[in-house]
Amino acid sequence: METLRPRHTGFCFGVRDALALTGSALDSSGDAAALGQVVHNSRALEALEARGLRQIKELPTKSRVPVVITAHGATPELFREAAASGLQVVDTTCPLVRRVQNHARELAEQDLPVVIVGHRHHQEVIGVAGWAGSGDGREVTVISSLEEADALPYREHRGIVSQSTFPQPLFREIAERVAQRTGQLEVRDTTCPVVNQRQREALTGLLDQVDVVVVVGGRNSANTVALAEACAARRPTHHVESAEEIRPEWFQKGQRVGITSGTSTPGWVVDEVEEACRDI
Ligand code: SF4
Repeated sequence: METLRPRHTGFCFGVRDALALTGSALDSSGDAAALGQVVHNSRALEALEARGLRQIKELPTKSRVPVVITAHGATPELFREAAASGLQVVDTTCPLVRRVQNHARELAEQDLPVVIVGHRHHQEVIGVAGWAGSGDGREVTVISSLEEADALPYREHRGIVSQSTFPQPLFREIAERVAQRTGQLEVRDTTCPVVNQRQREALTGLLDQVDVVVVVGGRNSANTVALAEACAARRPTHHVESAEEIRPEWFQKGQRVGITSGTSTPGWVVDEVEEACRDI
Protein backbone atom coordinates (compact mmCIF):
# COMPACT_ATOMS: atom_id res chain seq x y z
CA MET A 1 0.00 0.00 0.00
CA GLU A 2 1.06 3.59 -0.54
CA THR A 3 1.42 5.41 2.77
CA LEU A 4 1.44 9.04 3.80
CA ARG A 5 2.62 10.44 7.10
CA PRO A 6 2.27 13.97 8.49
CA ARG A 7 5.33 15.99 9.57
CA HIS A 8 5.02 15.20 13.29
CA THR A 9 4.72 11.68 14.69
CA GLY A 10 6.47 9.81 17.52
CA PHE A 11 7.28 11.20 20.97
CA CYS A 12 6.52 14.78 21.94
CA PHE A 13 9.26 16.66 23.82
CA GLY A 14 7.45 16.09 27.14
CA VAL A 15 7.55 12.29 26.91
CA ARG A 16 11.06 12.31 25.40
CA ASP A 17 12.44 14.44 28.26
CA ALA A 18 10.58 12.35 30.88
CA LEU A 19 12.16 9.19 29.47
CA ALA A 20 15.61 10.80 29.44
CA LEU A 21 15.26 11.77 33.13
CA THR A 22 14.02 8.25 33.97
CA GLY A 23 16.97 6.76 32.05
CA SER A 24 19.44 8.96 34.00
CA ALA A 25 17.89 7.82 37.30
CA LEU A 26 18.23 4.19 36.21
CA ASP A 27 21.84 4.75 35.16
CA SER A 28 22.81 6.27 38.48
CA SER A 29 20.71 4.09 40.85
CA GLY A 30 20.39 0.83 38.95
CA ASP A 31 16.65 0.78 39.61
CA ALA A 32 13.66 3.10 40.02
CA ALA A 33 9.92 2.92 40.75
CA ALA A 34 7.47 4.84 38.55
CA LEU A 35 4.10 5.98 39.87
CA GLY A 36 2.10 4.90 36.81
CA GLN A 37 3.21 4.32 33.22
CA VAL A 38 6.10 6.51 32.08
CA VAL A 39 5.20 5.72 28.46
CA HIS A 40 2.06 4.15 26.97
CA ASN A 41 3.85 1.54 24.92
CA SER A 42 4.49 -2.02 26.06
CA ARG A 43 7.80 -2.52 24.22
CA ALA A 44 9.25 0.81 25.38
CA LEU A 45 8.13 -0.11 28.91
CA GLU A 46 9.71 -3.57 28.67
CA ALA A 47 13.01 -1.96 27.63
CA LEU A 48 12.90 0.29 30.72
CA GLU A 49 11.93 -2.63 32.95
CA ALA A 50 14.96 -4.55 31.67
CA ARG A 51 17.06 -1.61 32.91
CA GLY A 52 15.50 -1.80 36.41
CA LEU A 53 12.29 0.24 36.26
CA ARG A 54 9.18 -1.09 37.99
CA GLN A 55 5.72 0.37 38.12
CA ILE A 56 4.00 1.11 41.44
CA LYS A 57 0.44 2.27 42.18
CA GLU A 58 1.04 4.06 45.48
CA LEU A 59 3.79 6.09 47.04
CA PRO A 60 5.88 3.86 49.31
CA THR A 61 6.39 5.06 52.88
CA LYS A 62 10.01 3.94 52.81
CA SER A 63 12.27 3.20 49.88
CA ARG A 64 15.92 3.61 48.86
CA VAL A 65 14.84 3.47 45.20
CA PRO A 66 14.12 6.78 43.40
CA VAL A 67 10.42 7.37 42.75
CA VAL A 68 9.61 8.68 39.27
CA ILE A 69 6.67 11.08 38.85
CA THR A 70 5.58 10.65 35.23
CA ALA A 71 5.06 13.44 32.65
CA HIS A 72 1.38 13.53 33.76
CA GLY A 73 2.42 15.06 37.12
CA ALA A 74 0.99 14.52 40.60
CA THR A 75 -0.80 16.36 43.41
CA PRO A 76 1.05 18.75 45.75
CA GLU A 77 0.04 16.43 48.62
CA LEU A 78 1.96 13.60 47.00
CA PHE A 79 5.13 15.69 46.76
CA ARG A 80 4.70 16.70 50.43
CA GLU A 81 4.24 13.06 51.49
CA ALA A 82 7.30 12.00 49.51
CA ALA A 83 9.39 14.72 51.16
CA ALA A 84 8.09 13.77 54.61
CA SER A 85 9.06 10.13 53.96
CA GLY A 86 12.51 11.18 52.78
CA LEU A 87 11.99 9.66 49.34
CA GLN A 88 14.19 10.59 46.42
CA VAL A 89 11.81 11.96 43.78
CA VAL A 90 12.56 12.20 40.06
CA ASP A 91 9.98 14.70 38.86
CA THR A 92 9.41 14.34 35.10
CA THR A 93 6.21 16.42 34.98
CA CYS A 94 5.96 17.92 31.48
CA PRO A 95 6.29 21.75 31.50
CA LEU A 96 2.95 21.95 29.67
CA VAL A 97 1.25 19.90 32.41
CA ARG A 98 2.98 22.13 34.97
CA ARG A 99 1.33 25.05 33.14
CA VAL A 100 -2.12 23.50 33.69
CA GLN A 101 -1.28 22.97 37.37
CA ASN A 102 -0.10 26.58 37.74
CA HIS A 103 -3.27 27.98 36.21
CA ALA A 104 -5.39 25.75 38.46
CA ARG A 105 -3.41 26.91 41.52
CA GLU A 106 -3.76 30.60 40.53
CA LEU A 107 -7.53 30.26 40.15
CA ALA A 108 -7.78 28.52 43.51
CA GLU A 109 -5.68 31.28 45.10
CA GLN A 110 -8.31 33.74 43.85
CA ASP A 111 -10.88 31.64 45.76
CA LEU A 112 -12.63 30.61 42.55
CA PRO A 113 -14.40 27.30 42.07
CA VAL A 114 -12.42 25.48 39.35
CA VAL A 115 -13.79 23.38 36.50
CA ILE A 116 -11.31 20.98 34.90
CA VAL A 117 -12.28 19.72 31.46
CA GLY A 118 -10.83 16.25 31.16
CA HIS A 119 -11.13 12.62 32.16
CA ARG A 120 -11.64 12.32 35.91
CA HIS A 121 -9.65 9.11 36.42
CA HIS A 122 -6.66 10.30 34.38
CA GLN A 123 -3.46 10.78 36.39
CA GLU A 124 -2.95 14.33 35.07
CA VAL A 125 -6.48 15.39 36.03
CA ILE A 126 -6.13 13.93 39.53
CA GLY A 127 -2.90 15.94 39.90
CA VAL A 128 -4.42 19.18 38.54
CA ALA A 129 -7.43 18.80 40.86
CA GLY A 130 -4.96 18.68 43.74
CA TRP A 131 -3.30 21.92 42.59
CA ALA A 132 -6.79 23.48 42.31
CA GLY A 133 -7.26 22.72 46.01
CA SER A 134 -9.48 19.62 46.01
CA GLY A 135 -7.50 18.30 49.01
CA ASP A 136 -8.28 21.53 50.93
CA GLY A 137 -12.03 21.22 50.42
CA ARG A 138 -12.24 23.76 47.58
CA GLU A 139 -14.88 23.39 44.86
CA VAL A 140 -13.23 21.50 42.01
CA THR A 141 -15.39 19.83 39.35
CA VAL A 142 -14.20 17.59 36.51
CA ILE A 143 -16.36 17.43 33.39
CA SER A 144 -15.80 16.06 29.90
CA SER A 145 -19.04 16.71 27.98
CA LEU A 146 -21.50 19.43 27.00
CA GLU A 147 -24.20 17.64 29.03
CA GLU A 148 -22.09 17.82 32.18
CA ALA A 149 -21.44 21.53 31.51
CA ASP A 150 -25.19 22.17 31.24
CA ALA A 151 -25.77 20.38 34.54
CA LEU A 152 -23.37 22.60 36.55
CA PRO A 153 -24.92 24.80 39.26
CA TYR A 154 -24.86 28.57 38.62
CA ARG A 155 -21.87 30.42 40.15
CA GLU A 156 -21.11 34.17 40.16
CA HIS A 157 -17.46 33.61 39.32
CA ARG A 158 -15.40 30.52 38.45
CA GLY A 159 -12.35 29.44 36.48
CA ILE A 160 -11.92 26.72 33.88
CA VAL A 161 -8.82 24.84 32.67
CA SER A 162 -8.33 21.88 30.37
CA GLN A 163 -6.46 18.60 30.68
CA SER A 164 -3.49 19.16 28.35
CA THR A 165 -4.46 16.40 25.92
CA PHE A 166 -8.19 17.18 25.76
CA PRO A 167 -9.33 18.09 22.19
CA GLN A 168 -9.20 21.89 21.93
CA PRO A 169 -12.38 22.37 19.81
CA LEU A 170 -14.47 20.46 22.37
CA PHE A 171 -12.83 22.33 25.27
CA ARG A 172 -13.88 25.63 23.65
CA GLU A 173 -17.47 24.44 23.19
CA ILE A 174 -17.64 23.20 26.78
CA ALA A 175 -16.18 26.50 28.07
CA GLU A 176 -18.90 28.41 26.21
CA ARG A 177 -21.58 26.28 27.89
CA VAL A 178 -19.96 26.74 31.31
CA ALA A 179 -19.96 30.51 30.68
CA GLN A 180 -23.77 30.31 30.41
CA ARG A 181 -23.83 28.84 33.95
CA THR A 182 -21.42 31.46 35.34
CA GLY A 183 -21.54 35.25 35.93
CA GLN A 184 -17.86 35.75 35.18
CA LEU A 185 -15.75 32.90 33.81
CA GLU A 186 -11.95 32.94 33.74
CA VAL A 187 -11.06 30.75 30.76
CA ARG A 188 -7.55 29.29 30.70
CA ASP A 189 -7.09 27.26 27.51
CA THR A 190 -4.39 24.89 28.72
CA THR A 191 -4.66 22.38 25.89
CA CYS A 192 -1.25 21.18 24.69
CA PRO A 193 -0.04 22.90 21.47
CA VAL A 194 1.79 19.71 20.42
CA VAL A 195 -1.42 17.67 20.60
CA ASN A 196 -3.37 20.46 18.87
CA GLN A 197 -0.82 20.51 16.06
CA ARG A 198 -1.10 16.71 15.56
CA GLN A 199 -4.88 17.01 15.38
CA ARG A 200 -4.65 19.90 12.91
CA GLU A 201 -2.10 18.10 10.72
CA ALA A 202 -4.28 14.99 10.62
CA LEU A 203 -7.59 16.74 10.07
CA THR A 204 -6.57 19.48 7.65
CA GLY A 205 -3.74 17.83 5.70
CA LEU A 206 -3.66 14.08 5.96
CA LEU A 207 -7.32 13.08 5.82
CA ASP A 208 -7.98 14.84 2.52
CA GLN A 209 -5.23 12.82 0.84
CA VAL A 210 -5.87 9.30 2.15
CA ASP A 211 -8.58 6.62 2.05
CA VAL A 212 -7.84 4.86 5.34
CA VAL A 213 -6.06 6.00 8.51
CA VAL A 214 -3.95 4.03 10.97
CA VAL A 215 -3.40 5.78 14.32
CA VAL A 216 -0.52 4.32 16.34
CA GLY A 217 -0.43 4.53 20.13
CA GLY A 218 -1.47 3.10 23.46
CA ARG A 219 -5.15 2.36 24.00
CA ASN A 220 -4.78 4.05 27.38
CA SER A 221 -3.23 7.17 25.84
CA ALA A 222 -5.80 9.99 26.02
CA ASN A 223 -4.38 11.97 23.10
CA THR A 224 -4.09 8.88 20.85
CA VAL A 225 -7.72 7.92 21.54
CA ALA A 226 -8.85 11.52 20.83
CA LEU A 227 -6.83 11.58 17.58
CA ALA A 228 -8.30 8.24 16.46
CA GLU A 229 -11.84 9.45 17.25
CA ALA A 230 -11.31 12.69 15.30
CA CYS A 231 -9.98 10.75 12.27
CA ALA A 232 -12.75 8.14 12.49
CA ALA A 233 -15.38 10.86 12.07
CA ARG A 234 -14.14 11.39 8.49
CA ARG A 235 -12.27 8.27 7.33
CA PRO A 236 -12.19 4.54 8.15
CA THR A 237 -9.67 4.50 11.01
CA HIS A 238 -7.80 1.73 12.84
CA HIS A 239 -6.13 2.34 16.19
CA VAL A 240 -3.17 -0.01 16.71
CA GLU A 241 -0.43 -0.29 19.31
CA SER A 242 2.04 -2.19 17.11
CA ALA A 243 2.72 -3.43 13.57
CA GLU A 244 1.56 -6.96 14.49
CA GLU A 245 -2.03 -5.69 14.66
CA ILE A 246 -2.14 -4.54 11.01
CA ARG A 247 -4.69 -6.61 9.00
CA PRO A 248 -4.58 -6.77 5.16
CA GLU A 249 -8.40 -6.94 5.02
CA TRP A 250 -8.59 -3.33 6.27
CA PHE A 251 -7.32 -2.08 2.90
CA GLN A 252 -8.38 -2.33 -0.72
CA LYS A 253 -6.09 -2.34 -3.74
CA GLY A 254 -4.90 1.12 -4.77
CA GLN A 255 -5.87 2.81 -1.52
CA ARG A 256 -3.62 5.29 0.19
CA VAL A 257 -3.03 4.83 3.93
CA GLY A 258 -2.44 7.74 6.33
CA ILE A 259 -0.23 6.94 9.34
CA THR A 260 -0.23 9.15 12.40
CA SER A 261 0.51 8.68 16.09
CA GLY A 262 -0.13 9.88 19.61
CA THR A 263 2.55 11.79 21.49
CA SER A 264 3.64 8.86 23.67
CA THR A 265 4.32 6.50 20.76
CA PRO A 266 8.01 5.79 19.99
CA GLY A 267 9.03 6.83 16.47
CA TRP A 268 10.36 3.33 15.72
CA VAL A 269 6.91 1.81 16.41
CA VAL A 270 5.39 4.25 13.89
CA ASP A 271 8.13 3.25 11.40
CA GLU A 272 7.31 -0.45 11.87
CA VAL A 273 3.59 0.17 11.35
CA GLU A 274 4.27 2.16 8.19
CA GLU A 275 6.52 -0.61 6.88
CA ALA A 276 3.84 -3.25 7.61
CA CYS A 277 1.28 -1.21 5.66
CA ARG A 278 3.71 -0.73 2.74
CA ASP A 279 4.35 -4.49 2.63
CA ILE A 280 0.67 -5.30 1.99
S1 SF4 B 1 1.39 15.67 25.01
FE1 SF4 B 1 1.87 17.80 25.50
S2 SF4 B 1 1.43 17.96 27.68
FE2 SF4 B 1 1.58 15.78 27.24
S3 SF4 B 1 3.70 15.25 27.62
FE3 SF4 B 1 3.57 15.78 25.45
S4 SF4 B 1 4.11 17.96 25.31
FE4 SF4 B 1 3.61 17.48 27.46
